[in-house]
Amino acid sequence: MTPPAPPPISPTSPAGDAILRAEEVHKYYELGETRVHALRGVSVAVESGGFVAIMGASGSGKSTFMNILGCLDRPSSGRYLLAGTDVTSYDKRQLAAIRNRQLGFVFQGFNLLPRTPAIENVQLPTLYTPIDKPERARRAREALALVGLADRAAHFPSQLSGGQQQRVAIARALVNRPTILLADEPTGNLDSRTAVEIMEVFQDLNDRGLTIVLVTHEHDIAQFASRVIVFRDGSIRKDDPVPDRPRAREVLKTLPTLED
Ligand code: ADP
Ligand code: MG
Repeated sequence: MTPPAPPPISPTSPAGDAILRAEEVHKYYELGETRVHALRGVSVAVESGGFVAIMGASGSGKSTFMNILGCLDRPSSGRYLLAGTDVTSYDKRQLAAIRNRQLGFVFQGFNLLPRTPAIENVQLPTLYTPIDKPERARRAREALALVGLADRAAHFPSQLSGGQQQRVAIARALVNRPTILLADEPTGNLDSRTAVEIMEVFQDLNDRGLTIVLVTHEHDIAQFASRVIVFRDGSIRKDDPVPDRPRAREVLKTLPTLED
């Protein structure tokens, strides 16, 4: 029997509509004498405007995969294409440049500067760009408006709820106008209603065309995405569209508020 033809490796091979494309990605971590095989041949294509949730047990490789998608780390083998560009062998400086242009990041911890008003926290990523000062402030206000916090620009993090702090962190991720938002457990520190409020923000942003990849271990949260990928032991175990995904805005109407 003839083996299947290998995939084309020319950098000009068509990437189709995928804005993110991982091909047979492996990742090894060297830890002294031991070698951890964290990703074992992961292939995923995410189309522009997609909204993907990544699930899987602790240690299954979710964060390792997100670090590669986010150009924070490189595959040990395989290829990674971002917006049609093969970035597999980019060095640190090149990765940082494409990261600043294309990607926004949200994490479980909000990582806001405590003695700094919301608007200045949101502006931080613009300090590494040539954008001038008035434009920085304008973009930060625009990003705060996108997450529904236009009226909280002058508040310090301590004057905001956990959900509001995470929304400031999302605004910060948006301020350089990325095409892709990567979020690793963004609702992990939030109560269940607030988590759904954050998913409402993500669904709104996705409706505006932002591509989103979100890691969560909560099944209910993953259902707000349009596709769920499940990792197990460094491999993809399932990759399915979400049928009849709920709209977070509608679900919120059915959830009790703090005052109830
Ligand atoms: P998840 O995010 O799904 O919990 P990770 O991607 O963090 O999983 O980890 C996948 C595997 O790789 C685990 O076995 C973990 O211990 C290992 N790992 C992750 N990061 C490192 C690292 N920096 N050095 C060594 N091993 C690591
Ligand atoms: Mg993780």
